[in-house]
Amino acid sequence: MQLLIRTNVPAFQNDLGDVVRLFFGEGTAVYDLAPDSDAAIKGTLSHEQRESGGLWHASVTLNLGGESYERTLTEPVQPGSPVEIRRLTKRLAKRAAYLVLKSATGRVLPWGSLTGIRPTRLFRQQLESGRTRDEARQMFLTDFDVTPGRVSLLEEILDTQDGYMDVSPDTVDLYIGIPFCTTRCSYCSFSSGVIGDGHLVEPYLSALLRELSGTADLLAAHGLHVHTAYIGGGTPTSLTADQLERLLSETSEAFPEITEWTVEAGRPDTIDRAKLAVMRRFPVTRISINPQSMNDETLIAIGRAHTAEQCILAYRMAREMGFTDINMDTITALPGENLDMFRHTLDVIRDLRPDSLTVHTLAIKHSSRLHEIRYEQRVDEMIRQMADEGRACAADLGMRAYYLYRQKYMASNLENVGYALPGKICRYNIDNMEETASVLALGAGGISKRIMGRDQRILRAPNVSNIETYIERVDEMTRRKAEMLDAIPESSEG
Ligand code: SF4
Repeated sequence: MQLLIRTNVPAFQNDLGDVVRLFFGEGTAVYDLAPDSDAAIKGTLSHEQRESGGLWHASVTLNLGGESYERTLTEPVQPGSPVEIRRLTKRLAKRAAYLVLKSATGRVLPWGSLTGIRPTRLFRQQLESGRTRDEARQMFLTDFDVTPGRVSLLEEILDTQDGYMDVSPDTVDLYIGIPFCTTRCSYCSFSSGVIGDGHLVEPYLSALLRELSGTADLLAAHGLHVHTAYIGGGTPTSLTADQLERLLSETSEAFPEITEWTVEAGRPDTIDRAKLAVMRRFPVTRISINPQSMNDETLIAIGRAHTAEQCILAYRMAREMGFTDINMDTITALPGENLDMFRHTLDVIRDLRPDSLTVHTLAIKHSSRLHEIRYEQRVDEMIRQMADEGRACAADLGMRAYYLYRQKYMASNLENVGYALPGKICRYNIDNMEETASVLALGAGGISKRIMGRDQRILRAPNVSNIETYIERVDEMTRRKAEMLDAIPESSEG
């Protein structure tokens, strides 16, 4: 099924396409019809914007299956910069498109017409622009048609994040990527490689430590301090205990001021006593042991080389060895999983009592194997129930939601949510999701971000993602960071 999109504001084409994709999935929005097109066009969605009588009008007509649906929304014309006017009129167009599609399909979407990645930021922007909490809530419920459950989730997150939003401008986060895994998960879209015989690990680690040392010099020269570090990937624990020790030792030496330090010990099959002992010797404050599912048949189906039992054993071993902050990740809508299977995963997690829990929704990205095999994303009520039961499980454990983000291609247009016990919030996650602090990212595929000035303009310095290219060109990655840090923040001058 494909819908042809027409608009008298070409700049809004993609945004209207985003709304169409919310209802019908990837590849359903078409913008041009070539004469020899064999596209299976089933209808058209036409948008027209005009200004009259002091109002902006956004009219959207949907012709689908022989039926026609129409909606016009208006907003008073307000003075503002071209960017603000564009934002307002775009929002109006998307809402009108959403409403006609909702009438035509009868579907209720959890996030209504919102297509952005970070709804928490949008909510906070409303408060900062002078709206009261009630007004902002009403706007989400009525204008954007977000369901009450999702609005209450947003408000819970805003409350939990209170006190974490002010980050000193001379404070940054550090991300270190270890792009190796024992096998590749079928939904993986990262640039990580399968570790294989491990021949790339040593040269990679040497390059990484070189980038680490160059970055430490850069930060010192700019008077910047690292407050949190996150070692992710990939699977950092796919390094040997000796390699992990070198990495942690050089990192703690270069940045002794780090107060929060997470290591993604993601795959339980890569965790052993020796590696946990290394992490205990260095000030690793938080680790993540990720089951994704506690059902062995699912773990096989998604290409993970461990069992549920291995996950439980790794978790218990880490607890015994004194880790007091352990996160677990789960994913809803995994291939073949029904509600009972997801409930089983939550039951096991409930018994283990981790300190934080992340409930992801499966997203099928273009570079994943699921996309390659044309696995059809699930869109059903059951997925929403899984996400809601994940939230209930976190609440049973005494946790509260503290960050949330959405991605394209997610099952049932849902979200990823991080929950944590009081005192076990991962500050790095909040900084990263809310973009409150700059991040220096080391390793293949890392993207450094500098948050600039009062308007939070973001400057990025990406590292190359190919592992071999990264090893060859590591000094260039440090130079890119230097240029990013040296850039003068134009918009915040004066
Ligand atoms: S553990 Fe993470 S990085 Fe590794 S293959 Fe799976 S999804 Fe990709």
